[in-house]
Amino acid sequence: MGQVSEVDGLGVKKLKFSVLAKCFEFLEGTSSRLEMTDILANLFKDCTTEEIDKVVYMLQGTVAPPFRGIEIGMGEKFVQQAVSNASGVPKEEVVKQYKTLGDLGDVASNILPKKEGVLTVSQVYDAFMKIATASGKGTQEVRINALTELLKNSSPEEAKYLVRIPLGKLRLGVGDATIIDALSVRTVGDKSMREEIERAYNLCCDMGLVAKTLYTDREAITNFQIKVGNPIKPALAERLSSAEEIIEKIGECYVEAKYDGFRIQLHKEGDKIELFSRRIERMTHMFPEIVQAAKEQIKGDAIIEGETISYDESTGEFLPFQFTIRRKRKHGVEEMAEQYPAIYFAFDILYNGKDLTQKPYLERRNILEQTITEGEIIKISEKIRTGDPQELMRFFNENIGRGLEGIVAKDLNAPYIAGARKFAWIKLKRSYKGELADTVDVTIVGYLAGRGSRAKMVGALLGAVYDEETETFKTVAKIGSGMTEEQMINLKKMLDQIKVEKKPKNVDSLITPDVWTQPQYVITVSADEITLSPSHTCGRTKDLGYALRFPRMISWIRQDKKPEDSTTVKEIIQMYNIQKHAKTE
Ligand code: ATP
Repeated sequence: MGQVSEVDGLGVKKLKFSVLAKCFEFLEGTSSRLEMTDILANLFKDCTTEEIDKVVYMLQGTVAPPFRGIEIGMGEKFVQQAVSNASGVPKEEVVKQYKTLGDLGDVASNILPKKEGVLTVSQVYDAFMKIATASGKGTQEVRINALTELLKNSSPEEAKYLVRIPLGKLRLGVGDATIIDALSVRTVGDKSMREEIERAYNLCCDMGLVAKTLYTDREAITNFQIKVGNPIKPALAERLSSAEEIIEKIGECYVEAKYDGFRIQLHKEGDKIELFSRRIERMTHMFPEIVQAAKEQIKGDAIIEGETISYDESTGEFLPFQFTIRRKRKHGVEEMAEQYPAIYFAFDILYNGKDLTQKPYLERRNILEQTITEGEIIKISEKIRTGDPQELMRFFNENIGRGLEGIVAKDLNAPYIAGARKFAWIKLKRSYKGELADTVDVTIVGYLAGRGSRAKMVGALLGAVYDEETETFKTVAKIGSGMTEEQMINLKKMLDQIKVEKKPKNVDSLITPDVWTQPQYVITVSADEITLSPSHTCGRTKDLGYALRFPRMISWIRQDKKPEDSTTVKEIIQMYNIQKHAKTE
């Protein structure tokens, strides 16, 4: 491959883009996490402090952390134009080849003249940043020209990736955990720094920033602190099946109403307010009334966690999740705010000028109550303090009676553990006879086609849960009920847009559906129970995996969840054990 870096006029080493492109190729060719870690650790060794964040973002197919809202996104037509401009091949020919090859990256690599590329990683990053931030009149021109320039200066191998990145089609299957492992291996030679790096990542959700900090000063990772404006990975709740078990596990606790809404992390610095979703997307403009209320009802600087839920103004009743989620939109925000007014129930505080995440919940909750002046829009989650299972159940039933989902019990002594599902929070949800005590969020990885007169619909969806160990999706159910015909038609249309030729390498399945899709959409499913099955790969040992019995879709696509936020294999096994336990009682 020759030199990995070149030295500029000022004597600064610059990593060549060809090195990154080669890594992309190696990563594409393997599904072993170990191998991916090695490839990345070697790449990271060649990066300077100025380059490492750029390399990390590009590995993620982007130029900035998702919550900054800076996306490279270019439409196919414009990318085709750039490929044509750079190669001199007419656009019709580009389109024709695309129809045969099915991938514009392959087309570019096919038709661009064979030569060595001269690009550095920083040049590519800067061009992508220009593409991502172009706005106003002539935007598309700027984008097409920037991509054309890149392609003119690249080799065919590099061109493949230069095209896939702006199309959002760089699918390397490299998860956050693999990047973290590789950063650790690059720094200390093994994975022993993983936890420390992961902690820093969970506190800022910005892998580029973490990597750069690590390269600048190792100690700074150990002492990494939360910062207003950088979202913190949300803490998650465990499940237990009864009030008795909860009290046995955490003793006297706060028991809070579980609102079935939309989780929002609110950041306040002076009069500057930012709102982030559970997926770590910026939502600030979608809830103007919360932004305004935060300025009036929250004292000083703060990071607060809470649940936003819409209500019916005439009856005062809370609305189901499907209505609250309608607020998640870019246009028509004002009308939606009027139609579905929201209340924000604050349930935790992580910062008040000082990092509070290590403080016990009892103390954080006290601080929360002193920081918020309750009003029409911002309220504090309702709670009781108890060590008595019967009292817990009374509160639970009271909340179910009000149309809420259940309760979350909170360990009074627990710190806030970013990004982890721990027994600091335990949820108990309403369940019906003959039904699994909790719902399961699955990622759609493909579908079986409808037959005969139902050919324009999906027949059944192949649903998978997430395996954190291997960063892969493992199938757990074929879901053919719970959907209206209209939904089945729409699902087919949406899934056909993200269909892929063969099984994605981060999907583990024994079933071959009619159509494979990129793991992208999450739906909530309820089922009668979890059984052992020879057909599914979730938690499979020997010949059997876990499967959902009589699964039915109970939510439309969960816009608030990423595929990695699906229920995990570990949770399915826990739910199976809870169910077994309940049956023997
Ligand atoms: P679910 O679909 O059951 O909400 P989940 O996977 O989205 O599950 P969990 O960790 O299981 O999330 O449950 C915690 C969720 O409950 C939080 O993400 C939050 O959105 C919601 N919630 C509602 N009320 C509260 C509360 N008082 N305290 C903490 N979380 C609450």
